[in-house]
Amino acid sequence: MKRVVVTGGAGFLGSHLCDALIQRGDAVVCADDLSTGRLDNIDHLLDLPAFTFAHMDVSEGLEVSGPVDVVAHLASPASPPDYHRSPLGTLAVGSRGTEHALRLAAREQARFLLASTSEVYGDPAVHPQREDYWGNVNPIGPRSVYDEAKRFAEALTMAYRRSVGVDTGVVRIFNTYGPRMRPHDGRVVTSFITQALNGDPLTIYGDGSQTRSFCYVDDLVRGLVAMIDSDEPGPVNLGNPHERTVSELAAAVVALTGSSSPVEHHPLPVDDPTRRRPDIGKARAVLGWQPRVDTEEGLRRTVDWFRTRMDEVAAAAPMVAGEQVGGAGVPAASPVAAGPVAVGRS
Ligand code: NAD
Ligand code: UDP
Repeated sequence: MKRVVVTGGAGFLGSHLCDALIQRGDAVVCADDLSTGRLDNIDHLLDLPAFTFAHMDVSEGLEVSGPVDVVAHLASPASPPDYHRSPLGTLAVGSRGTEHALRLAAREQARFLLASTSEVYGDPAVHPQREDYWGNVNPIGPRSVYDEAKRFAEALTMAYRRSVGVDTGVVRIFNTYGPRMRPHDGRVVTSFITQALNGDPLTIYGDGSQTRSFCYVDDLVRGLVAMIDSDEPGPVNLGNPHERTVSELAAAVVALTGSSSPVEHHPLPVDDPTRRRPDIGKARAVLGWQPRVDTEEGLRRTVDWFRTRMDEVAAAAPMVAGEQVGGAGVPAASPVAAGPVAVGRS
């Protein structure tokens, strides 16, 4: 049994990680400021003796009493509208928050897991992305608050490994989806599912030819746990290598939901990566990990979960002041020119 501190443990991925750790008998301290996470996600854990919730901003500090075996640092906004809404907070949690989490790991001689991201590859000039590719990131664009915060977090983690001797592990997570995502978090899977279930147009940014590779949450969490249990420093890519275009994803969601929603094209956000697919050879080799759930099955499970929350799905999407990208009801993705550019049927 381990005692694991999970920062960002009330979020989408963090809450599933807390579940997996509790299920196997670990004790968990979940540290979260609830900025993008929700108590609902961990409600079923709150009364368990093995689970503690600490409402705190890890950019301000991370004090945990008692022994700690693992610090899993997931705290950070992850959805583009979330990090555009809080650019300074995103930089703070990637820098100061990561340092507080590393200091705790150093003091407790704990294993440290950093949840980094495929965004460290930026708009990749190498495809698929292997861990030895250094990336192509615009350091001053609107996405840089997230990309560079994570790149700094990786650098800080490696420095604590080399100069302080902390047992660190870095994973680079590629687009992951599943139950407990906020219906209006603005990420593409949630946007398409809520739009399809509401009979609203699916908002495709750009011409829809950009690609992503979507991993189901259960697979991803198995990879996080494998990384916690290993002494592998990483970085290790975790993601599903099945690549598809955004238009293909829209068509798959429309088919799965039986929706008659049309698609509606909006301007592409600034610096939106044109393609993304993980090479997971290293994860296979060092963790024995690979995804098991194919995208259709994962999307079906996610749609089923959203169908049980139709009140929330049907509620109006929140707007971000000054960042609205298009027609009414469209949540912001990043600062771009306003107005839909084309409407068509998927
Ligand atoms: P999420 O927004 O659901 O979860 C993030 C959690 O961190 C939330 O509970 C939020 O309240 C908390 N948080 C944010 N700032 C905090 C702070 N200063 N102090 C304490 N808590 C704070 O997002 P997610 O998809 O679950 O992402 C979790 C982690 O995985 C993030 O670090 C993200 O960068 C990384 N990641 C996720 C994906 C993905 O596709 N889901 C892809 C790449 C990387
Ligand atoms: N996207 C889209 N419509 C949406 C939301 C996103 O076409 O309503 C696109 C977005 O431009 C990007 C891809 O879908 O090309 C994935 O976006 P997401 O925000 O989910 O993740 P990220 O860009 O961080 O990979």
